[in-house]
Amino acid sequence: MYAGRADALSLAATMPGLARAARVEHTLTGAVCAALAAAPRPPGVPVFATVAGGVSRLAAAVAEASGARIRLGAPVRELTPVPGGWRVGPDTVDAVVLALPARAAARLLGVPPPLDYASVALVTLALPAPELPALSGFLVPAQEGTLVKAATFFSTKWAHLRRDDGVALVRASVGRYGEEHRLHAGDPELVRGVHSELSTLVSSRLPEPVDARVQRWGGALPQYPVGHVERVAALRATLPPTVALAGAGYDGVGIPACVRSGEAAADDVLKGLS
Ligand SMILES: Cc1cc2nc3c(=O)[nH]c(=O)nc-3n(C[C@H](O)[C@H](O)[C@H](O)COP(=O)(O)OP(=O)(O)OC[C@H]3O[C@@H](n4cnc5c(N)ncnc54)[C@H](O)[C@@H]3O)c2cc1C
Repeated sequence: MYAGRADALSLAATMPGLARAARVEHTLTGAVCAALAAAPRPPGVPVFATVAGGVSRLAAAVAEASGARIRLGAPVRELTPVPGGWRVGPDTVDAVVLALPARAAARLLGVPPPLDYASVALVTLALPAPELPALSGFLVPAQEGTLVKAATFFSTKWAHLRRDDGVALVRASVGRYGEEHRLHAGDPELVRGVHSELSTLVSSRLPEPVDARVQRWGGALPQYPVGHVERVAALRATLPPTVALAGAGYDGVGIPACVRSGEAAADDVLKGLS
């Protein structure tokens, strides 16, 4: 999920519930059981959830509900203290929440970036009547050496993406931290590589795709190093009370964690203003 190496990432930052349990339990199995028991899934609640019509609708809905004035295509290059607030681009404001990738935020604050990011690409294939295992998808451990690090069988995972014509949508995630060179391949090469590897991984010669799409996400997945939680706390402790940091670079990569991080940052600057 992080496109990184499990042995290089901070357990406390990537799986805080498991890290807490591991401080008490004596075995990994015991810690996993304790972490699962501490956060039980209510009966009948599905493992996966998404936004009808696509996750991109979430950003539009949040923007509309906020009632905020939003300016797009306006990268901020400087954050300057002025009497009573901050100068951000052409605006003077009371307080600032930097909800940016960690490197961009660090540049504005004049501090070293607290972490690095992995680049990935998503390769989606439309396959006519493929023979797929009865799974929503799978992860591939790094030591397998494959280009594919995960696959999602969309038509199995999401009922709304099932098609009457039997065409199945399969999405592979490719690229791991430190293997950016593998993403230098062109789109057709990535599509061919993914198609061939998936056939091997599911032990079935997959039909030729009737359509394919490659979407690249450069520098998108934060790699929380060991000590990340403490490093972020130390960085936050140096910030003026009317500046806060939020987003995947600090408090967790999933959208729910990013939402919590944004809400906490807003609370922090409100406290700083009062
Ligand atoms: C391929 C992929 C699949 C994922 N799938 C899932 C999933 O299924 N479920 C899930 O929960 N999470 C998923 N995630 C993770 C999640 O989407 C991200 O971690 C989250 O969206 C990050 O949100 P953010 O607001 O921290 O950062 P971003 O969404 O990256 O927002 C940062 C914004 O800052 C802007 N910016 C940068 N520099 C400046 C500047 N100088 N001035 C002004 N603006 C600037 C950028 O343009 C960007 O809009 C996925 C991530 C990836 C890459």
